[in-house]
Amino acid sequence: MQRIAIDMDEVMADFVPKHLALFNRDFNENITIEDLKGKKLREYRPHLKMEIRNYITEPTFFRDLAVIKDSQEVIKDLSKQYEVFITTAAMEYPTSFTAKYEWLKEHFGFLDDMNFVFCGDKSIIKADYLIDDHTRHFARFSGQGILFTAPHNVNETGYVRVNNWQEVKNYFLK
Ligand SMILES: [Mg+2]
Repeated sequence: MQRIAIDMDEVMADFVPKHLALFNRDFNENITIEDLKGKKLREYRPHLKMEIRNYITEPTFFRDLAVIKDSQEVIKDLSKQYEVFITTAAMEYPTSFTAKYEWLKEHFGFLDDMNFVFCGDKSIIKADYLIDDHTRHFARFSGQGILFTAPHNVNETGYVRVNNWQEVKNYFLK
């Protein structure tokens, strides 16, 4: 079986809407996802970089993120024909481990726990494919990188890109 590694944030878990809503509420702003095309919130409001990060280091932040549309159904289908691993750079936010694990159990309980990989540097991952919203993880990846569209990466070119989970399905199962 070929092996597919799948990132969590902004691929399975809808990170930006919650982060942006909290930020807008607390800083009396009205920033939209449209405003964040091509950049991260911390690049859009660099003077509040620390405050922006503080939301994410809060231990429960990741626990109630919305599931990205069609990801459950498509990952379930993929797992019948491929070996699927969930690979999240959780070391970037060590306080997130429990919330991320519980979130996976709640929404992707059909996957085996042993296929959850909480890692630091993703170059250690050996898989045939990596679906991720950050191109930096493809640089030292030996398989095929597949860029999952997120607001911050819309202007990046030169990668195999999928815009949603139906496109992932078409790529792997057609
Ligand atoms: Mg991600």
